[in-house]
Amino acid sequence: MATLEIRDLHVEVEDEENQTAKEILKGVNLTMATGEIHAIMGPNGTGKSTLSQTIMGAAAYHVTQGDILLDGQSILDMPVDERARRGLFLAMQYPAEIQGVTNAEFLRAAINARRPADDQISVMSFLKELDKNLALLDMSESMTERYLNEGFSGGEKKRNEILQLLMIQPKFALLDEIDSGLDIDALKVVSKGVNSMRGADFGSLIITHYQRLLNYIVPDVVHVMMGGRIVKTGDASLAKLLEKEGYAGLRDDLDLDV
Ligand code: ADP
Ligand code: MG
Ligand code: MG
Repeated sequence: MATLEIRDLHVEVEDEENQTAKEILKGVNLTMATGEIHAIMGPNGTGKSTLSQTIMGAAAYHVTQGDILLDGQSILDMPVDERARRGLFLAMQYPAEIQGVTNAEFLRAAINARRPADDQISVMSFLKELDKNLALLDMSESMTERYLNEGFSGGEKKRNEILQLLMIQPKFALLDEIDSGLDIDALKVVSKGVNSMRGADFGSLIITHYQRLLNYIVPDVVHVMMGGRIVKTGDASLAKLLEKEGYAGLRDDLDLDV
């Protein structure tokens, strides 16, 4: 079992207009293990993406207090690629388009970058995995011969991110708004992909503004983030409650000042 632990995390971003730093995360605590799916819900602008970007090590986000531990070891000083090698994955981490690199080439390079030099994936096993996962996601083979994300529709990009997830097989996947802009059929396919990853060696932190996705990917734990903190944690029924009462209802219930 692997663990991902976020301890009293405070994060600032540069405010370029005023040349000052703004604190976005104000003491986030969250512990998860492989085998579990956690969801983070919360209103827009509350710091959900900041959390996922900070876990992955994006440069704009400065940790001023607290720690992030993977299997008990701090990852704060590790660059993004090192975090990826250790099993973290962030959907949306890739640039919108990479010219001259086909999707298949990109996938194979991404897998091999995470493996030691003497254990690179063979072309045969790669193609076998690719075929299996394309079928699961109802994607056509031609998608893999196209240049990465070039001319992909919104739905194709999301499916492709899930294809990356299935091919890379990370320990922990941070899935930030993978449901945004998806119609119901695409949502079902994306959910099927994530659900197929469920198991003892996989954990996921699913970030979403809406509860709809959580009808398809039923989380073990739901956290609500407001004002840069996790203000409530519960089981899947918490997401249903939020759908009914909205964030404003919870804000009143908890007597929050955010
Ligand atoms: P959420 O994902 O919950 O909608 P975000 O983490 O995207 O929230 O944003 C939280 C706050 O941090 C917002 O006020 C946003 O403008 C600010 N913020 C996030 N990332 C950056 C950045 N790279 N530069 C400046 N401000 C940022
Ligand atoms: Mg936002
Ligand atoms: Mg966001």
